[in-house]
Amino acid sequence: MNVADSAAIGEHLRSRGGVATDLAQQADLVIVNTCSVRGQAEHKALSYLGRLALIKVKQPAMKVVFAGCMAERVKESIKKRFPFINLVVGARDIEYFPQLLDKFLGDMLDDRSVLSAATPQLTSFINIMRGCENHCSYCIVPTVRGPEKSRAVDDILADIRRMAAAGTKEVTLLGQNVNSYTSAGRGKTIIDFSDLLQMVNGIDGIDRIRFMTNHPKDFNDKLIETMSSCAKVCDHIHLPLQSGSDTILAAMNRKYTAGDYLTLANKLKHAIPRLAITTDIMVGFPGETDADFAATLRIIEHTDFDFLYAFKYSPRPGTPAAAGEDSVIRSKKEERLAILLEQADSIAARKNAKLIGTHQEVLVEEVTANGIAGGRTRANKKIFFAGESNLRGTLVSITVTGSKAYSLEGSFTSCV
Ligand code: SAH
Ligand code: SF4
Repeated sequence: MNVADSAAIGEHLRSRGGVATDLAQQADLVIVNTCSVRGQAEHKALSYLGRLALIKVKQPAMKVVFAGCMAERVKESIKKRFPFINLVVGARDIEYFPQLLDKFLGDMLDDRSVLSAATPQLTSFINIMRGCENHCSYCIVPTVRGPEKSRAVDDILADIRRMAAAGTKEVTLLGQNVNSYTSAGRGKTIIDFSDLLQMVNGIDGIDRIRFMTNHPKDFNDKLIETMSSCAKVCDHIHLPLQSGSDTILAAMNRKYTAGDYLTLANKLKHAIPRLAITTDIMVGFPGETDADFAATLRIIEHTDFDFLYAFKYSPRPGTPAAAGEDSVIRSKKEERLAILLEQADSIAARKNAKLIGTHQEVLVEEVTANGIAGGRTRANKKIFFAGESNLRGTLVSITVTGSKAYSLEGSFTSCV
């Protein structure tokens, strides 16, 4: 989501004559777009501000904007700690960022003669909703991003058509829980997430559709049918599990059991045979015992995840879970994380090895000067093969010839 927000704001600045640089030392304006979901993300933002403070001493004219979820959380205090910050834009105001920025910058950009051309992006993200009101007991998102709000269907479709006209081939629809998307359609109709997918499936120029993230409690059969019937919807689902223990899931307020999750994963695999399933797992949630953790390992083995994002529980201020004790000690969290990642690596390696000899549809995203082409399969697996630069942006069929846990090698078979 932050990548999507940052890209949108970058596009806005570019449209006003701004030119991007990778070096803060060369910048007139630095926007620090922050995440708050774990303590570590906030520490990174703070240490980056520390580095900016040194640059600011040498370049006093440089302007600094502090934005996003952490900005929402600490907007009252951050300027006391880093007085050089010129503007704070919290996540709840992110929709109005362009207007706020224009007001703040005044004519700073207008006198620039260089207009940088926007680079055509083959793959783009689009936010279809903002906020969340599920209130998982560990999570700070509802506090910093506010209640769930779906964007109007016509606005989303217009944005995607614009992206397609500018060269986007693959679009990823984003929301904290896309399964609860809802918008008023024409007449008295209600558009749900499956309807939206079908509409995006009809947009010319878009070859592939991805979406994230899903909440098992709101995933319905209509969506499974839509995924299998819409040709452009890719064979990948990100379905966060968090824990395999029913006690921990209840304490997290996730509103499903491990059994519900397994039933859903099995239905999905049955309906979409080449489906890759990825997930989020948290270790060390307060009260997590060795038996709870063993239950998580069991469900991971059963579900055969293609990839998992694993996190150590991090108490977030103001969340219900943080009101109690952070009872699992750090070394235990680290030990569980290491066991989990080892198991995930071996499952992923085993699954990818089974793909050797198969043909995969690949969207070619890059081709290096020495002729190595790279892209992703419909199941979102990275794959590399020998290819010419004119393949960039095309769909090709690749025969898989080699595999690692998180990437594949192949040889070009034909264009699709
Ligand atoms: N809306 C998404 C999650 C967004 S946050 C969903 O419900 O799946 C992304 C992931 O960060 C979560 O799935 C969770 O695994 C992790 N996470 C969230 N809060 C956390 C916390 N306090 N400590 C550790 N990990 C956390
Ligand atoms: Fe956080 Fe739960 Fe909402 Fe995801 S669904 S953003 S984990 S509160």
